[in-house]
Amino acid sequence: MNLASPVPRLALKAERKETLCSACGLCQVRAWPAKESYQSCVFELGWLGEAERALFGRERSLDDPDELAFGIAQERLVATLNPAIEGAQWSGIVTRIAQRALETGLVEAVATLHRSHADYFLPEPVLAQTTDDVLAARGNKPVTSPTLKSLEVAYRKGIKRLLVIGAGCHVHVLRDFQKRFPYLADMDVYALGIPCVDNVKPKKLRWILSRISKSHKTVRHYEFMQDFSVHLLHENGEVEKVPYFSLPRELSRSDVFAPSCMSCFDYLNGLSDLTVGYVGAPLVKGEKRQWILVRTEKGKRLLDLARDELQIFPETRKGDCSKAVKQSATMMMERLKREHLPAPTGRKIPIWLGSIIARIMNLVGFKGVEFARYSVEFHLIRNYYFVKLRYPEKLQTLVPKHVYKVLENRGFEA
Ligand SMILES: Cc1cc2nc3c(=O)[nH]c(=O)nc-3n(C[C@H](O)[C@H](O)[C@H](O)COP(=O)(O)OP(=O)(O)OC[C@H]3O[C@@H](n4cnc5c(N)ncnc54)[C@H](O)[C@@H]3O)c2cc1C
Ligand code: SF4
Ligand code: SF4
Repeated sequence: MNLASPVPRLALKAERKETLCSACGLCQVRAWPAKESYQSCVFELGWLGEAERALFGRERSLDDPDELAFGIAQERLVATLNPAIEGAQWSGIVTRIAQRALETGLVEAVATLHRSHADYFLPEPVLAQTTDDVLAARGNKPVTSPTLKSLEVAYRKGIKRLLVIGAGCHVHVLRDFQKRFPYLADMDVYALGIPCVDNVKPKKLRWILSRISKSHKTVRHYEFMQDFSVHLLHENGEVEKVPYFSLPRELSRSDVFAPSCMSCFDYLNGLSDLTVGYVGAPLVKGEKRQWILVRTEKGKRLLDLARDELQIFPETRKGDCSKAVKQSATMMMERLKREHLPAPTGRKIPIWLGSIIARIMNLVGFKGVEFARYSVEFHLIRNYYFVKLRYPEKLQTLVPKHVYKVLENRGFEA
């Protein structure tokens, strides 16, 4: 794909260019100078690369297609917590592991997020020191979140063993800060990672939800599922399903997402000790299967805390995502180039028709780990072109090597 005809200069000039920051919370800490926190910013240092080498002794293989997309892992598995934790995002594996880490004394505290009183989906950083506090943190806050602000509390309390539950940007910043400065140097830190992609700023969330759902105020849980639909659970128990193909067109603009999240190259949290997501697990009705990547010995220790309570399944894989990656990324790039023009809004495809397409895709499309590969590769390509168009001066710093390999494999020009 050739980007030789880039976005007209005028259009770019008109755009206000924001500093890249995912509001991870470290710069809000007052126990040390904010300018020191900033030195560990992933948007200044870049994704993976040396940090991956420092953690694993090597960077991910460019020749192993799974490692290229998913990062280094000593074990990958599909599992569900039995019984599931009510109100958790999926079966609650993250919450259960964090509770067990406290109960067994592996850690003294857990840095995570409670729900804000202002809005059900907005975060409030918390340093949890009881299992009830960990339980209260269950479920997604689907916005950029200041989890690392709690490092200040942990530091002031003299915590020596800490579990941090975070997205890729949290874990990058945490790992670098701990190495670079003395403040957390003698803290034994465990990083329990969630995958994270297409995140948004808190002030955008309600507008987005109101575009997707017929009643955004009553939504209590939602997720972009592997059956090509968004599932939204309302407080009366109703599940509203909106196929991806029927999402309003204004939601496909790049400025819906935070610029930091459009410049993110670590969907699957490659520097965590343990990543617990769902995207590579099959969607089985009535079950909440999750996808787990054990990356380090510490990650294995974390998973072992809850292994007895897990029902474990082998990974599954069906189909080949190659064509779909190419098709979706090409379409998205064309849209990126046209974003300065007035765009149509509303649903192009009505929900009934979108549901039929989603059902067909679900029957004939790729599944399991292949769905994860599709999603990871599509986002790497899209974000690469976003940075190239909007933040060209950041391209060299931000983009890790494996992204160029994905571009090459899928026939896109760097
Ligand atoms: C914006 C966003 C996008 C995501 N996209 C994907 C995806 O595409 N594919 C995929 O496999 N998984 C994705 N996830 C992760 C997934 O939704 C689940 O969080 C994960 O699988 C854990 O499920 P669980 O039931 O074990 O979590 P729970 O037991 O419910 O625990 C979740 C933990 O994560 C913490 N948390 C919630 N929101 C955030 C946040 N914004 N930042 C940091 N920590 C948070 C909670 O406080 C809680 O401690 C995403 C998460 C977020 C926030
Ligand atoms: S992402 Fe975190 S470290 Fe970077 S500028 Fe924002 S708050 Fe600071
Ligand atoms: S998409 Fe990336 S940058 Fe944005 S919150 Fe998630 S991990 Fe952080």
